[in-house]
Amino acid sequence: MDLLPVFLNLSDRWVLVVGGGAVAARKVELLLQAHARVRVVAPQLCEELASSRDLGRLEHLNLEFAPAHFDGMLLAIAATNRKEVNRAVAAEGSARGVFVNVVDDAQHSSAVMPAIVDRSPILVAIGTAGHSPTLARQLRAQFESMLPERLGEVASLAGQARERVKQALPEPAQRRRFWEQLFTGSFATSVLNGRIAEAQTLLAQQLGAASAGQAALRGEVYLIGAGPGDADLLTLRALQLLQQADVVLYDRLVSPAVLERARRDALRIDVGKQSGRHRVTQERIHALLLEHAGRGLRVARLKGGDPFIFGRGGEEIDLLRRAGIPVIVVPGVTAALGAAAAALLPLTQRGLAASVTLVTATGDGVDHMDWRALAAPMQTVVFYMGVAQLPRIVEHLRAHGAPGQRPVAIVERATLPEQRVIAGTLDTIHALAERERVVAPALLIVGEVASRAVTLSGVDKT
Ligand code: SAH
Repeated sequence: MDLLPVFLNLSDRWVLVVGGGAVAARKVELLLQAHARVRVVAPQLCEELASSRDLGRLEHLNLEFAPAHFDGMLLAIAATNRKEVNRAVAAEGSARGVFVNVVDDAQHSSAVMPAIVDRSPILVAIGTAGHSPTLARQLRAQFESMLPERLGEVASLAGQARERVKQALPEPAQRRRFWEQLFTGSFATSVLNGRIAEAQTLLAQQLGAASAGQAALRGEVYLIGAGPGDADLLTLRALQLLQQADVVLYDRLVSPAVLERARRDALRIDVGKQSGRHRVTQERIHALLLEHAGRGLRVARLKGGDPFIFGRGGEEIDLLRRAGIPVIVVPGVTAALGAAAAALLPLTQRGLAASVTLVTATGDGVDHMDWRALAAPMQTVVFYMGVAQLPRIVEHLRAHGAPGQRPVAIVERATLPEQRVIAGTLDTIHALAERERVVAPALLIVGEVASRAVTLSGVDKT
């Protein structure tokens, strides 16, 4: 290890910054965030630094750098674009035993600034000892996506409870177990979802149970939208929770690429198999949810698209709430949005559509919908459908006044590698779909915007 990482407490301590440009401004901003007092030495200030000076946030010496500027300084940053000045700052620092960071010059620096992921009070600092700032930035991006936005609040709440926990659980091993369970269970998920009051209650309950010698086993369910197929369309929260879940219950529409993102040792249960009647399957899913969460496990319930768009998510949360099992819902990219993006088709293009309607067209429900409204102009209607319903949909729309020339597009397996976009009109789409042998899952997009569909598969409009 060539450098030792340390976190400095700069509260009300003086830091010297030599240089008045954009680079200096970035460093000054960081120092001010850390509550340092900043002295900037530069004959000229960029706009940002000038306004900070005018607001009294920093001390400005309108001078060329001189060694005396180091008086009273704990740390210095050389951020001019003149090598000889930066070196002079470094030399003065080393003579005085003050650490100096020379921006972009690790060789002459006695302190190097890391790339930072800030989830205060949690901080991740990434350094490459000056070998590759670009690599440090890339790593930083990876940590940014891995660490939940509210992670800092988990630490703060734990910090506030520390004394209480110490008193309730005098034995260190017992305490460690308590914290470990707390950070992997519903306390943490509540905080990460912004439910602070609930988290505090959970902490108190679990502390009570732990000090009474009971294991507070409490399962929970994450109802997660898995998106239309492309695993990169998962939300960060979906990924984070998939990494925690002990059990994953997944639907037919959840792609293998998404499943791969679950924890390696999680139990995966396929509840999408078409066995017997749908109703029985849903009951079986309910039973599985209750069984696993009831055993204190963290269950990810993965659904294609968004769980609340034709996903029966409502029924599952009702069941869990009745059973007193905590539920967290994570939205997903619904198929209509995935398909629209993939076909470069703006669903509410100005002048073509003033609204968008998502409709499910399966089973007998099709005959009882408000077809007059769905056939009206200046809107986009997206049918989530069984492919076999296509002729009935077209027939109803035509019968209620939609012109045969109205553009339509079918997006099959949206966002997956096999995606196809087939564009036509109400008059032509059925024949096209048959010719192209469209298979499930597929969506039908009806409205003027469909004329913009980019048929990436090369199937032509006819
Ligand atoms: N909750 C899901 C919808 C479930 S209903 C969502 O929000 O997307 C199932 C229907 O969704 C399928 O019949 C099909 O019409 C549509 N669908 C789901 N995934 C799709 C995909 N990748 N491409 C096209 N249509 C899809």
